[in-house]
Amino acid sequence: MPESPSARPVAVVTGASGGIGEASARRLAAAGYEVVLGARRVDRLEAIAADIDGRAIALDVTDDASVDAFAAQVPTLDVLVNNAGGALGADPVLDADLDGWRTMYETNVLGTVRVTKALIGALEASGSGTIINVGSIAGFEIYPGGGGYIAAKHGVWTTTRTLRLELLGRPIRVTEIQPGMVETDFARVRFDGDEEKAAAVYAGMTPLVADDVADLVAFVATRPEHVNLDSIVVRPRDQATGRDVHRTA
Ligand code: NAP
Repeated sequence: MPESPSARPVAVVTGASGGIGEASARRLAAAGYEVVLGARRVDRLEAIAADIDGRAIALDVTDDASVDAFAAQVPTLDVLVNNAGGALGADPVLDADLDGWRTMYETNVLGTVRVTKALIGALEASGSGTIINVGSIAGFEIYPGGGGYIAAKHGVWTTTRTLRLELLGRPIRVTEIQPGMVETDFARVRFDGDEEKAAAVYAGMTPLVADDVADLVAFVATRPEHVNLDSIVVRPRDQATGRDVHRTA
């Protein structure tokens, strides 16, 4: 395989234009990786890439052609962080907006599978690849209004576990990090830009910040190659479950 021009190990981070993805890109760069940043908002990617001596490449994980074009520019790869995703709406199941559900499934589940399929050859060729999927506590818990996001993140969890089994014996580690509440653009996107609703999510409690999760991404990536952290659940101290959150008045 061609050497990376910088001879640094290479990491791909999807959804690197903000939030957990941006923070992960920054952490991995600090740990010595050449980071390839993918997302739809290329202007944001380029600014972050310039900061960390990385590469910015447009990526829509729901689009085959976009993923193929992205993967063609990543011939060698050590770490893949499948982070692109998020929630749309918080409606009860019986009021489900099925287009929103479809988009959540397309992005969180199929996007993760599509990108992994496209990059598995480059990962395996490294001799020791690592896949880190950013799931959620919604991957194993439920809460009212979680509907389509919960269904999608359960899909991420079961897909990740299946992949771990199917890759057994090949030089690729598979990890899922499952965060609770992290203050990013997540709630803003979920509530379609409604700042009041987004702010209410974190009112009176101390959420995680993106860098708390990124710290774990870098930790997973930098363990000795025989160590596979299968899953990591991380929440703010103020959150015990998807429903139980301690808030001051
Ligand atoms: P965020 O700030 O909204 O970031 C989401 C990222 O995903 C953005 O960079 C966005 O970039 C990218 N993205 C969305 N759709 C995409 C697509 N079709 N193709 C490529 N990139 C796409 O939210 P975040 O909290 O950092 O979320 C990151 C991951 O953490 C998500 O998988 C989310 O489900 C998970 N998570 C978040 C929380 C939380 O409380 N924040 C908790 C548990 C899990 P562009 O719009 O530029 O494409």
